[in-house]
Amino acid sequence: MVGVVPTMGFLHVGHRSLMAAARNECGLVVVTIFVNPLQFGPNEDLDRYPRDLDGDLSACAAEGVDIVFTPSVHELYPMYPPATTVHVEGLTDSLCGFSRPGHFDGVTTVVTKLFAIIGESRAYFGRKDAQQLAVIRRMATDLCLPVTVVGCPLVREADGLAKSSRNAYLDADQRSAAPRIFGAIREGVAMIVGGTRDPHAVVASIAAAIAEIPELRVDYVAVCDAASLGSLERLDGEMLIAVAVFCGPTRLIDNVAVSIVGSEVISDFGSGWVPEG
Ligand code: AMP
Repeated sequence: MVGVVPTMGFLHVGHRSLMAAARNECGLVVVTIFVNPLQFGPNEDLDRYPRDLDGDLSACAAEGVDIVFTPSVHELYPMYPPATTVHVEGLTDSLCGFSRPGHFDGVTTVVTKLFAIIGESRAYFGRKDAQQLAVIRRMATDLCLPVTVVGCPLVREADGLAKSSRNAYLDADQRSAAPRIFGAIREGVAMIVGGTRDPHAVVASIAAAIAEIPELRVDYVAVCDAASLGSLERLDGEMLIAVAVFCGPTRLIDNVAVSIVGSEVISDFGSGWVPEG
């Protein structure tokens, strides 16, 4: 079986965990590196997105990757912009889809191209981008693509900040402030563990905790249904706490999956983070 790990490069431990999962389960592992212009808005960071092909090739070699596919824009888009795009209804309306209009159409269009090139495979995506994972799963199902979409745990820095290529943009003050994003989410989880079932109260608490930090500005905070990503009136079942926060000019995202089964609350903080105490 072929395992494929689509990325935009500047690879870190989060990407490498996807490669390791693919290596573990597949005979041939392909990593794609492509900074996809179609998924960036007009005022976003396409031109300055971090790139380090030599470092990326070393990371891929260290994870035993067989093929690194680094197409040019012209190879993936012989005519730009493409006349044919892929749009997933519903799941793309909220969260990052609301904040970044057209972003997910860019993602689903390029991932469809990569799946068309690579063919039958298992494709590994991180839960760091939980909405992206839900959108791509739905797309693969709707289009009968011969691809099994595999979700992998979110990997964090030791202080809790979600690993991201965009963390490279942060200056020292912003980097010190950024772990508060995850801290605020954890406080929201603690409220749910403590019995809060009103999603608005949890959202308000997380937003207020983030707003206290001068370097941070909330883009969105949501507690939504994990499957539909729709809003909830009462917390129950499988949910996602998802946030997007500007840290200086850099937009960072994070999420924690939470499920309520009877009176039990189970949360998935991801891996890599070392809880204090
Ligand atoms: P990107 O290069 O940011 O487009 O990400 C490529 C893939 O790596 C996507 O499936 C992401 O969800 C995944 N990824 C990025 N950061 C992390 C992380 N911290 N933990 C797990 N997966 C990640």
